[in-house]
Amino acid sequence: MSVKVLKFGGSSVADPAQIRKIREIVEADPERRYVVVSAPGKRYSGDSKITDLLIMLKAVIDNNIPYEPLMAPIKERYMNIADELGIDVDLDAEFKEIRRNLDAEGYGNYIVSRGEYLSARLISAYLGYDFVDTKDLILFDNKGRLLIDQTNEALAAELAKHERAVLPGFYGSYAKNGQICLFSRGGSDVTGSLVARAAKASVYENWTDVSGMLMADPRIVKDPLPIKDISYVELRELSYMGASVMHEDAVFPARMSDIPINIRNTNKPEDPGTVISNKGAGDDGSIISGIAGKRDFTVISIYKNMMNNEVGFVRKALAIVEDAGVSFDHIPTGIDSLSMVIASSELEDKLEDILESFKVQLKPDDINVEEGIAMIAIVGRKMFRSVGTSARICGALAANDVNIRMLNQGTGEINVIVGVEGADFEKAIRAIYAEFVKA
Ligand code: ASP
Repeated sequence: MSVKVLKFGGSSVADPAQIRKIREIVEADPERRYVVVSAPGKRYSGDSKITDLLIMLKAVIDNNIPYEPLMAPIKERYMNIADELGIDVDLDAEFKEIRRNLDAEGYGNYIVSRGEYLSARLISAYLGYDFVDTKDLILFDNKGRLLIDQTNEALAAELAKHERAVLPGFYGSYAKNGQICLFSRGGSDVTGSLVARAAKASVYENWTDVSGMLMADPRIVKDPLPIKDISYVELRELSYMGASVMHEDAVFPARMSDIPINIRNTNKPEDPGTVISNKGAGDDGSIISGIAGKRDFTVISIYKNMMNNEVGFVRKALAIVEDAGVSFDHIPTGIDSLSMVIASSELEDKLEDILESFKVQLKPDDINVEEGIAMIAIVGRKMFRSVGTSARICGALAANDVNIRMLNQGTGEINVIVGVEGADFEKAIRAIYAEFVKA
């Protein structure tokens, strides 16, 4: 039987009603055999995520402040879930054990990981699935870097012993000493992907509270269409420009084994969601897959007569930026000019020094700095070898009176990047969306 691995995020495990939905989803398909869960998230706006409460708990313990007043509401939330769903797990014993371990070395990560641990304990009992702790299966080196092959072996060997299981997301342990190590926030997505790889799953279903990715930011474009399918490379481009539904690192394990990731909505399980796969499927629909953008870039333009004849000019310019520890996004060049597009947050207090070095080392005729530029990525694998996409982008922007400050198309032809004035950002996205998708 083929295997599907599911991951449910914080909003999907936030309260008993949500966990009932999980059971319906899991039971609807016998191939749904391994389930990774997050810690309970917010039940309503203004509520706290369990992980945030646990981080506070750690801080309180670090500062020798009595921690019971914080521990109590955390326990309360799990008790409520267990009571309402009639789950038979001894939470008193679990919390006794947690208290007992608070003195242990490395207790900070241990505390924060208990959110996922307890979720998995309860949900495994509720589904009648085995509980498989990820602690000694997901392994990190001393620096907290994932040991991906060791992890894959350990997970695969353990999963083989369980027909069906629930696993906690977000943590594993240091291979060296067995102490808990956490992924960065949102890391249960990565756990799910690792489990999918180890289980040789046919699909990794990532269940959240939206029906997949949208073709544009709904705060800018009214009712954007959902993205039905997208390739990993396109996803990466869109996520980099701010459109994200998943932890960035979650793509890699699934991708290594060519496992498609299906983003689904726990509250609307009938929606097909977005499928992310190696090539992307389907040819129907728009030539573009999605549009995303970010504000607040700084463009530094360097002008020098005969620059194109000066061997090593670009290398020297890049070395200056590198020495300042600044990473750039784009470097559009002309015959006698070179521009660098850099996220303004990267520059902060370094801009003056960089400009000074440019002046001294490059001896330019002029340097111009422009802040508040917005970058928009128009992404689509179907653009490849298709004539006229950039022309349509430019036409749409011109028709809407948006001046293009920069235009960059990689030779991979998977995306076109346009830079516009910050004030034109939203208008530009709406114009491009209307041109390619619908008015
Ligand atoms: N609970 C963790 C967080 O809030 C991890 C996760 O949900 O993926 O970041």
